[in-house]
Amino acid sequence: MLKIVLDPGHGKTTNRSPIDASFAEGTNNYLFALALKEALLEYEDTEVILTRKTVDEDPSLAARGEMAVNVGADVFLSLHTNASSNPSVYGVEGYYSVKTPVAYKLLAGLCNTVSEILPAPKVRKVVTKTSGGADYYGVLRSSVGVPYSMLIEMGFHTNAKELERIRLDEWHNKAAERMAAVFADFFALEKKKAPVIEPAPDDDPVSLAAELEAMSVRLAEIAEFLRK
Ligand SMILES: [Zn+2]
Repeated sequence: MLKIVLDPGHGKTTNRSPIDASFAEGTNNYLFALALKEALLEYEDTEVILTRKTVDEDPSLAARGEMAVNVGADVFLSLHTNASSNPSVYGVEGYYSVKTPVAYKLLAGLCNTVSEILPAPKVRKVVTKTSGGADYYGVLRSSVGVPYSMLIEMGFHTNAKELERIRLDEWHNKAAERMAAVFADFFALEKKKAPVIEPAPDDDPVSLAAELEAMSVRLAEIAEFLRK
């Protein structure tokens, strides 16, 4: 069982876009996490846990990483969109924990596949970012022991073209599907088989005919009643 903890960054109203204040990164991250969870659960042997149970929750950075440690996660992925004071900056960035260099390949795959469906594909970097030898990002710093600990910045909500794309449900679903496929490839996950739909007993022609018969009797009764 592959246990994946998704961390939709921030809280509901955090990091509004300067282009359109109705966009808040914290809400968008949450909505995207739901889409990614659904896409990942299309594969066998996966379990997905979100660090925010509702869009209103906003646990501390340390609590988010610790949640992944406490449930024994194999993967911790913090989901974000990026911001720059320069509105022309665009692209995807990935940061993996300095403690889990093995995460580089997986994260690079995720960054590539997401960038391919942005208006102008670009992976700006896939790196570790440290401060005094420890992870710069609090969520990564607190996820000690999780084998793959990563943070992804899926485009810039300060760039008009990317904002237009990354806020769409359809884009969420498409990016989620693509990212789930990268996970599946990396961890050799099998897609769940579509459920076999057994015909309901009511669907057999004999009982259907009986039902129609009963219905026409009822209709005749109603007609009879109306004539009176
Ligand atoms: Zn963020």
